[in-house]
Amino acid sequence: MTELPTRHPDIILVDAFKRRISYLRLSVTDRCDLRCTYCMPERMTFLPKREVLSLEELDQLASGFIERGVTKIRITGGEPLVRRDIMDLFRALGRRLGHGLQELTLTTNATQLAEHADGLAKAGVKRVNVSLDTLDRARFLQLSRRDALSKVLDGIAAAREAGLKVKLNAVALKGVNEDELPDLIAWAHGQGHEVTLIEVMPLGDVEEERLDQYLPLDAVRAQLERDWTLTPSDHSSGGPARYFDIAETGGRLGLITPHTHNFCDGCNRLRVTATGQLYPCLGGSEQVDLRAALRSEAPQEQLGRALDRAMIIKPEKHNFRMDERGADPALARHMSMTGG
Ligand code: SAM
Ligand code: SF4
Repeated sequence: MTELPTRHPDIILVDAFKRRISYLRLSVTDRCDLRCTYCMPERMTFLPKREVLSLEELDQLASGFIERGVTKIRITGGEPLVRRDIMDLFRALGRRLGHGLQELTLTTNATQLAEHADGLAKAGVKRVNVSLDTLDRARFLQLSRRDALSKVLDGIAAAREAGLKVKLNAVALKGVNEDELPDLIAWAHGQGHEVTLIEVMPLGDVEEERLDQYLPLDAVRAQLERDWTLTPSDHSSGGPARYFDIAETGGRLGLITPHTHNFCDGCNRLRVTATGQLYPCLGGSEQVDLRAALRSEAPQEQLGRALDRAMIIKPEKHNFRMDERGADPALARHMSMTGG
């Protein structure tokens, strides 16, 4: 393990628009055991393993970010829990909690969460985000091309038993889970989980027409308000979601609406792919090669320079568009590269 870093106030990450960067989303693999139709095609081409950062490199990278004032790291993918040595990384990063790092979290499809929930809790993880778009087995199979709903539900239950707080994320998809969203929200709130709905984003080629998948959340909100009372909430997770309290379910609902409401003003995050490419914006093509820095003769110095460069090129806002049928994806890379 690399040495524990000490943070210096002069080197904290602040971009050209004076946004303080404190949150890293670190993808540890592009591989996945599901094939969600909005995320990747069935015959997805995955990266050769040698291109992916080693555990030591991921640890070194995380240290470099913590040293520059990053206080929250979310491990993502692809599916992070399919990476064989992933728990070693959680244990290594968990040791940095309280030494610059304040929060270590995970986004997962939960198919393997039952096996890892205890280990994650022991490593210091307190909360996990689970992606769940439907509670119907046949629909889950249609949506993810795998019959894995029961494993996901077991994973969620195991996480709760291990003391992890579970937040659910669902992508709202026109004609697919549209009719089920109220039931999904009611179920989640009944189990004590917060839910966030996400609009589909045009990232990477999938086998379906993006515009056919796109369901604006303003329409979903109007539909929910026919039966429920939604009150805008002051709650903020420091991220792009706007929150509402639902009186009838007693729970909180987040809405992430990249197309209808731009949320870039307060953006505090950076994303790094499993190959060490830093994307300062999920919706932009700007990138910085951190793997080259890590594999250079002077990794620490080169990493520092690369992060400085990221601060200069982080764009003011994303540029997603969802209004053109048959258009090429806004960005060629899939969400499984940058981890959402
Ligand atoms: N495999 C893990 C999972 O599904 O939670 C982590 C990676 S996944 C890429 C992260 C999040 O991105 C998931 O919540 C998924 O639903 C979402 N996602 C994937 N492709 C998307 C797209 N094109 N538009 C919007 N959300 C997408
Ligand atoms: Fe896998 Fe997550 Fe993409 Fe679904 S959304 S295919 S679970 S990476």
